[in-house]
Amino acid sequence: MALLQISEPGQSSAPHQHRLAAGIDLGTTNSLIASVRSGVAETLPDLEGRHLLPSVVRYQADGPVVVGHDALAAATEDPLNTIASVKRLMGRGVEDVKGIGEYLPYEFVPGSSGMPLLHTAAGDVSPVEVSAEILRVLKRRAEETLGGELSGVVVTVPAYFDDAQRQATKDAGRLAGLNVLRLLNEPTAAAVAYGLDKGSEGVIAIYDLGGGTFDVSILRLNKGVFEVMATAGDTALGGDDMDRLVADWIMQQAGMKADAGHVDMRRLMQVARAAKEDLSSHSASTIELALEGGTTWKGQLSREQFNLLIAPLLERTLGPCRRALRDAGIRAASVKSVVMVGGATRVPLVRQRVAEFFAAEPMIDIDPDKVVAVGAAIQADILAGNKPDNEMLLLDVIPLSLGIETMGGLTEKIIQRNSTIPVARAQEFTTFKDGQTAMSLHVVQGERELVEDCRSLARFELRDIPPMVAGAARIKVTFQVDADGLLNVTAEEQTQGVSSSIEVKPSYGLNDSEIETMLRDSMTSAAADRDARRLREEQVEADRVLEALHSALAADGDELLDEAERNAIDEAAKRLEEQRGGDDYRAIKRAIEAVEKASSTYVERRMNNNIRKVMAGHKLDEFKPS
Ligand code: ADP
Ligand code: MG
Repeated sequence: MALLQISEPGQSSAPHQHRLAAGIDLGTTNSLIASVRSGVAETLPDLEGRHLLPSVVRYQADGPVVVGHDALAAATEDPLNTIASVKRLMGRGVEDVKGIGEYLPYEFVPGSSGMPLLHTAAGDVSPVEVSAEILRVLKRRAEETLGGELSGVVVTVPAYFDDAQRQATKDAGRLAGLNVLRLLNEPTAAAVAYGLDKGSEGVIAIYDLGGGTFDVSILRLNKGVFEVMATAGDTALGGDDMDRLVADWIMQQAGMKADAGHVDMRRLMQVARAAKEDLSSHSASTIELALEGGTTWKGQLSREQFNLLIAPLLERTLGPCRRALRDAGIRAASVKSVVMVGGATRVPLVRQRVAEFFAAEPMIDIDPDKVVAVGAAIQADILAGNKPDNEMLLLDVIPLSLGIETMGGLTEKIIQRNSTIPVARAQEFTTFKDGQTAMSLHVVQGERELVEDCRSLARFELRDIPPMVAGAARIKVTFQVDADGLLNVTAEEQTQGVSSSIEVKPSYGLNDSEIETMLRDSMTSAAADRDARRLREEQVEADRVLEALHSALAADGDELLDEAERNAIDEAAKRLEEQRGGDDYRAIKRAIEAVEKASSTYVERRMNNNIRKVMAGHKLDEFKPS
């Protein structure tokens, strides 16, 4: 028998040609691009030999867009037109941006589709466009170095990035003319860079302290597959905070006033950062600060002194570490290795504290600021088809539960947070009213029991449901999250097969510190939430009972009940209606029971009556079980 050769659509099985692929770490502070050359993954430098590209973009009135070091150098003199940390704005709405506006000097204007635009000398630009400028520079660098066009790239994103943030990142790639093969979680990329996917099975932790953000992730390698078990972090904690602490110390030593001029402050921040970085490889650093007016302050900062300054900051990273371990359901002792990521993990005290916390020697062989790009390059090389026999599969996790609004404003979680993706889960729902032909579906994200405390992602409708009595229709709702973390929701009526679906993307705007807040709220409000849920549930049940009772009474109440019986039922129903408006779920429950009791004879009579109607004109034999 002849064997058929099977090839992926679009890929020829002709003699294999190496496709140029690259991995991109699109960072808050710095971005990098890496590629596999002669079997080795390495980051690519610019013409001056610099690997890191500052994630800073400057727009000028009559001049080109400037990206990287030159833009960074202009940041203090032209702050409104020089955009830094744009990653914090990706996929966020106008409202979200107001929250972080305090420390961002830019002018925002509302754009279409709810996306905020940044007002610059060269016109209004979106965060996606700003990121695309950074990506364009990296693309050009790679194509010049590698000598050809890139066939595809893998771009990394923080594991906690939500749908809108991932979509925005993909959009930026497309805008830069890149073929984004896949988005990859940063911690997973770091683990891949160390080849941990080929090592023995077990749990690893990724500790990522960058310029302005801290992330910790717990991964598990199981049968060659990575699974992100949990993630946590702090979106306002990083190496820049160390700079500020050193700057404060210098100001004290030099007797500088808090209202020092712009130029002095800029120099101060520069020497503070230089001293911090110097102290990673030296036990003391000499600081010289030339101030406006001709005076120069000179001093020395020892590593011991520096360690005292930053110790509280490092303690703040351990909270999220504990939380991630708890979410993953494991103890620090079960963590086999800890991978260090982010430039700020070069600080010796960081390594020491992390080693103590996890009781494991942290992995530092690959430059912590390059490791994510290196892992992305390895993955891109595989996805581009350069290693056809490699079966590495990478699983990621969703940061917040996804669910649907049910009666009474309650959330029904369909996919639990920290579920690995890709994932698909289905659940059946039914109609609430007799003859209901449409159902409106509200997709929400969050951990809380009440919809109003969660984040609304999308709404859509399922129509043309065949009319049936309440509770008879079967509507299957499927949530599907793809490998990039994008959500698709489908609702299908099971008897007739009518269906409706929605792809959830640009409800642009989830604030990543909002994710933190949502998680924290769900933990502190668990008891209150439980009571609120019970109340809503009893209210929904009360509505259902009353609805059914009213429709029954309208149909045959007069025929089957005498006046006294009818009064007793009406009385119980009235009391239930009163309790329904209150906030005591136990009282509602009792009132429901009272209605059921008052109407029990009536219900019995209705059943007999219905049976009689059905059997009219038939012989009793026909109804015997055969
Ligand atoms: P991000 O992931 O936020 O883009 P990076 O991983 O590039 O950021 O980390 C940037 C931070 O690392 C900056 O605060 C920078 O000062 C710090 N950093 C870089 N090199 C060193 C060093 N040798 N010692 C201490 N901190 C360093
Ligand atoms: Mg980073």
